[in-house]
Amino acid sequence: MIYPFTAIVGQEKMKKALILNAINPKIGGVLLRGDKGTGKSTAVRALADVLPEIEVSDCIFNCSKEAMCDECREKASKGELVFTKRRMRIVELPLSATEDRVVGTLDFERALKEGIKAFQPGILAEANNNILYIDEVNLLDDHIVDTLLDVAASGWNVIEREGISFRHPSRFILVGTMNPEEGELRPQLLDRFGMVVDVKAISDPGLRAEVIKRVEEFSENPEAFYKKFKPEQERLRKRIEIARNMLNEVTVSDEIVHAVAKLCSELGIETHRADIITIRAAKALAAFKGRKEVSLEDVMEVAELTLPHRMKSKPFEEPKLDFDKIESILKNAIQEAEEEREEEKREESRAGEDAEITAKSGGEKKHEIGKTLLPKLDFSSKIEAVKGKRVKSVGKSGRYVDFRLSGEEIAIGATVRAALSRGVRIPEERDFRYKICSSRSASSITVLVDASSSMASLRRMELAKGLIFRLLQDAYIRKDRVSMVAFKNSSAEVVVPPTSSPQLAAKRLAELTTGGKTPLAAGLLKARDLLRIEMRKGYVPILVLITDGRANVSISGDIKREIERISEAIARDKILTVVFDADDFVSLGYAREISEITGGLYYRLKELSEEKIFGVVDEIRRSFSS
Ligand SMILES: [Zn+2]
Repeated sequence: MIYPFTAIVGQEKMKKALILNAINPKIGGVLLRGDKGTGKSTAVRALADVLPEIEVSDCIFNCSKEAMCDECREKASKGELVFTKRRMRIVELPLSATEDRVVGTLDFERALKEGIKAFQPGILAEANNNILYIDEVNLLDDHIVDTLLDVAASGWNVIEREGISFRHPSRFILVGTMNPEEGELRPQLLDRFGMVVDVKAISDPGLRAEVIKRVEEFSENPEAFYKKFKPEQERLRKRIEIARNMLNEVTVSDEIVHAVAKLCSELGIETHRADIITIRAAKALAAFKGRKEVSLEDVMEVAELTLPHRMKSKPFEEPKLDFDKIESILKNAIQEAEEEREEEKREESRAGEDAEITAKSGGEKKHEIGKTLLPKLDFSSKIEAVKGKRVKSVGKSGRYVDFRLSGEEIAIGATVRAALSRGVRIPEERDFRYKICSSRSASSITVLVDASSSMASLRRMELAKGLIFRLLQDAYIRKDRVSMVAFKNSSAEVVVPPTSSPQLAAKRLAELTTGGKTPLAAGLLKARDLLRIEMRKGYVPILVLITDGRANVSISGDIKREIERISEAIARDKILTVVFDADDFVSLGYAREISEITGGLYYRLKELSEEKIFGVVDEIRRSFSS
């Protein structure tokens, strides 16, 4: 028994985003970001019960009138194709799914004889005209993400084997959930989501109590609980269905379109996608409210779902929507448009004097990137030694960055687009595009810093923060990621999850405090776990440890043994390690031992300037970039 969607309290933004997507799939899906236990997955799964009926064929691809597979097309041409009403479904893509399971498989022998029957449909086939749900979407394999992006862009899934290619429509509403603590989403994938909601735990005590009461009631007797909400569920489902059916009749005035364009431009949003999606979402909202015309309020209401993740913000600042500002921009734009029209009417003959409304190209100046001059450091021999250990496991595969006309591995998305651009459905030889893979590997650098209370902790912190910002300055170009783990009191925490975004880092670092004991082993373990996930995503893992090494808290037993064992594990994982020993006098702590066991580099912090520290780390990551 599914928890009733209408019984979810206090998460109105999340619910609204899901409902609007069900009404208008062209919004492009929704990403729900938030900590564990904020009810994201529950809400997505609960949505299933209020999804509308849609008209689809009974083929295995769930074809709609807008896009049909070959078989449906053939039936349609003979007048034999029947569409029936079926409830929209939620199809889950598990992280463990293989590429074959996602795209489907083609039996070459059978394909020659029997055509379509040789195709074993995958998740992308099931997802057509349904919701494709990915929990922990940020942990999805890069390879699968590439496929998803290709398919989402073209609306078609193409499967190829030995020159035979087969395709079917795959138009899904992408719904993802993620915990930002566990790493960020690739920018291309983030951009694909029409809406993003940051889901926060409810702070109002009254609402929290209500949540507990309801969840308890549900777990004691799900059926009785569901029964209580059934009429409300039915009403909502009907309302979504009606809104979906009247969507085509909803109109938007030129003034509002103009105002949205101006809003996006003033917020420094570069692509037109934001404008288009905001209008689509506003139309869905108007329909949901039973209106056939979009109002300014509709735009305001959806802007907080469609715009924040696309806004350019100042370096080191989290993008934020200022509602008063939005309201005034929209209202001014509408007023201007109305005045313009009045003017046009009154003096149609007077040319050239229309109040030209040129939207100022708002937004911030681009952040200067990668201009720093590096001090040349003499440690290349040490790096060579570390590199030698690592090189074998880096592998040759590289990342798919672009396509060209000849090569070995076919770039499916680009090939399909080439065919479609000629008006052909099945790609021929001339449409084939091949992947260009960059051989350089991006790095993921975890800065592990000792945040225990001591005289030197503030300087360590400042150094670590400075290092992170410097590394992030050109991370966008280099596709590197940087994260920070801090340890203090009795545990370690991920302060900055792996990111390429200076804004996110700045926000997280601002909240950091120091104090307490030195749980070094816990810190090492956390950093290793983080870097192992990064390795699975194809990044070269680099661990930068800043500590005096004077550990005084264990995880569960002997401090020395724990540190040694985790260091050995780090060495086995071939994580490149640099230790900056912050001990002021002779090295009394474990810093040197860690660098020896991990086979990493070792420096005395005292002897290095901030510039040199950055130089060391930068040179290591650069040694893997070509
Ligand atoms: Zn079909």
